[in-house]
Amino acid sequence: MVDVIIVGLGVAGMAMCESLRKNNKSFVVFDDDSQTSSNIAGGMYNPVVLKRFTGVWRAAEQLAIAKTFYRDVAQILGSDYDIPLKIFRKFASIEEQNRWFEACDKPHLRAFLATQLVQNNNQHLKAPYHFGEVKNTGRVDIGGLLKHYMQFLESQKQYFPISFEHQELIIEPKAVCYKEWKAQTIVFAEGFGLKKNPFFNYLPLHGAKGQLLTVKAPGLHLDAIYKAAAFFIPLGDDTYKVGATYEHGKMNNQISEDSKELLLERIQSLTDMPLEVIRQEAGVRPTVKDRKPLVGQHPLHQNMYLLNGMGSRGVMIAPFAAQLLYQQIYDQKALPSEMDIRRFEKEWIAKTP
Ligand SMILES: Cc1cc2nc3c(=O)[nH]c(=O)nc-3n(C[C@H](O)[C@H](O)[C@H](O)COP(=O)(O)OP(=O)(O)OC[C@H]3O[C@@H](n4cnc5c(N)ncnc54)[C@H](O)[C@@H]3O)c2cc1C
Repeated sequence: MVDVIIVGLGVAGMAMCESLRKNNKSFVVFDDDSQTSSNIAGGMYNPVVLKRFTGVWRAAEQLAIAKTFYRDVAQILGSDYDIPLKIFRKFASIEEQNRWFEACDKPHLRAFLATQLVQNNNQHLKAPYHFGEVKNTGRVDIGGLLKHYMQFLESQKQYFPISFEHQELIIEPKAVCYKEWKAQTIVFAEGFGLKKNPFFNYLPLHGAKGQLLTVKAPGLHLDAIYKAAAFFIPLGDDTYKVGATYEHGKMNNQISEDSKELLLERIQSLTDMPLEVIRQEAGVRPTVKDRKPLVGQHPLHQNMYLLNGMGSRGVMIAPFAAQLLYQQIYDQKALPSEMDIRRFEKEWIAKTP
């Protein structure tokens, strides 16, 4: 008997584990590697929407909780996977620069946007209109962190590499039973795997496939994240993750030649340097139309909860969402209505016989 069964060990599942562990709750986690989103993600955290120069929903709160979360995990594991890095947004025109300065004046963006233009002094970069600097940003090596965290849980006998079969779950009034495990509560954190979850697949999780390249560009020497037509995320030793695509066709983890070509084209928005493609990866972001997470209690089963819908910003939003879900389960604190799955009550009623 444990307090909680968690299904899924992406960044959302890991954040839930930590909320529980900090509060001395017992748990086990199952994961079957069917989704790759967290493992392959660029890992950036960035409080600003760089297309429109607007703030991310509750960015300051998310960022504060995320920074504490990654620091605390680093303490348990003995390795820090959070690498603070500036983001330099390339401007395409004077008009864009002006829109940036307008955004800088907005009180909620002041902490995140630098008012000085960053001159381009790297001969390999194409940036005649220079860059704008975003502050309080960085990259978490999410793939490395998850692997390490999984090993940690395995050593505590809390991690099981199995595929959860929803039809095997027995739901009692005050407990759930799954094979040899019994728990008071179950939390599903399956990312796009939610589509196969009969308890929650009434929810409008759309998904957006993304692909990334890892490239080696000797001599490019970027020591910040650069955003032009694609993000360039330095991994060290002149190796960069470049991406990502947004694809709305088939939702799977397969890489494609078309997307590789597209990314190579986008690289040229920043540099013409010759580079070598080392790796190509794909995954499906668990996105929702209203761009808010899907969190909360099942409409019928009181001991069943969901932690999903992290979209394209799981690194920053997952620790925040997991903390609020913990407070809902154990302190009966209501979730912010924008992220509570109760906003999709109509969809539940429509799909329930
Ligand atoms: C190309 C790309 C680049 C990205 N870049 C960034 C970025 O720079 N910054 C950022 O913040 N976000 C980024 N994202 C988005 C980010 O990856 C997601 O927001 C986040 O990973 C979602 O985490 P999750 O834990 O909800 O889902 P997932 O990472 O998909 O994890 C779900 C887990 O559940 C498991 N699972 C599912 N079903 C079952 C089952 N039945 N039984 C057992 N296990 C199951 C899966 O195997 C998986 O491990 C990117 C995404 C992509 C695709």
